[in-house]
Amino acid sequence: MSRVYNFSAGPAVLPEEVLREAAEEMLDYKGTGMSVMEMSHRSKAYETIIQESEADLRELMNIPDNYKVLFLQGGASQQFAMIPMNLMKNRVADYIVTGQWAKKAYQEACIYGKANKIASSEDKTFSYIPDCSDLPISEDADYVYICENNTIYGTKYKTLPNTKGKPLVADVSSCFLSEPVDVSKYGVIYGGVQKNIGPAGVVIAIIREDLITEDVLPGTPTMLKYKIHADNASLYNTPPAYGIYICGKVFKWLKAKGGLSAMKEYNEKKAKILYDYLDESRLFKGTVRKEDRSLMNVPFVTGDEELDAKFVKEAAAAGFVNLKGHRTVGGMRASIYNAMPIEGVEKLVAFMKEFEAQNA
Ligand SMILES: *Cc1c(COP(=O)(O)O)cnc(C)c1O
Repeated sequence: MSRVYNFSAGPAVLPEEVLREAAEEMLDYKGTGMSVMEMSHRSKAYETIIQESEADLRELMNIPDNYKVLFLQGGASQQFAMIPMNLMKNRVADYIVTGQWAKKAYQEACIYGKANKIASSEDKTFSYIPDCSDLPISEDADYVYICENNTIYGTKYKTLPNTKGKPLVADVSSCFLSEPVDVSKYGVIYGGVQKNIGPAGVVIAIIREDLITEDVLPGTPTMLKYKIHADNASLYNTPPAYGIYICGKVFKWLKAKGGLSAMKEYNEKKAKILYDYLDESRLFKGTVRKEDRSLMNVPFVTGDEELDAKFVKEAAAAGFVNLKGHRTVGGMRASIYNAMPIEGVEKLVAFMKEFEAQNA
């Protein structure tokens, strides 16, 4: 067996320990004589899995009691519609557009009401986070929306926007559990898990209770109401059961690693190795304004498309895979999520130095 260093933006690398454990439990989960995949979501064994997963996530993120944790399906993209359907009581919301994902969420919200683009960094291909300290927040906005870590462009909010009292809704798909967060500053925190937590197919939404009501937009399907999932503890219908089980294992792995403060320290150390090199390299350079750099997604270029392609190809042959940048931006991107070991980044930088020596 040989594992590569997988720098994919998502679905992405998972902790090897978790994969091994899941493999061991594949045919017989704890004496049940079946795989978690084959088990009723109403069984005692599964009830324990989903309840422990929620409890561990609550502990890791220090989630206050007045927030619900929902395990949902449909990808992060489904939330682009679910959020306005459930939250747009006045049919007004403010969006800060810092990349493709925020833009898609904004466009989806336009279907349901008056979505205002109150700030954007599109003028410089989303290479920075705009100043959000004093934005023209709409008087009657139901919420203010951000994408906190921009997976494609590699930017991250270091300070949350001043929402002037409006609930903040944040897509944290690509920075979920990468560092501690103060949940109480948000109305909704949500993310697809396939970037930093588990297998595609699960979306976790952490929602302040007062935002979960029957008062949704007319025509909202039952399955898209937060309340139905909250009232049924994410078991209204069959949840993405196996995916949640893997997420639960990752939560336990994170706890064993020392929780989110320890993860932040580790992620900063990893990212620094790569950014320090990008800052000194004569061949490669980072594409993001320094103060807005993401710890998770690191885009870089040589400035020459052919050389970029050569690098991606040679890196893959050397065991560093999925370094090609997003199809909309080109260049390279190294996604260095929680489960990417520090050796992976050290070895990548060593490889980049070699490539630079041969190609500069
Ligand atoms: C990947 C990603 C999405 C889309 O996720 P899907 O699960 O494919 O819908 C949305 N937002 C962010 C920030 C992402 O990184």
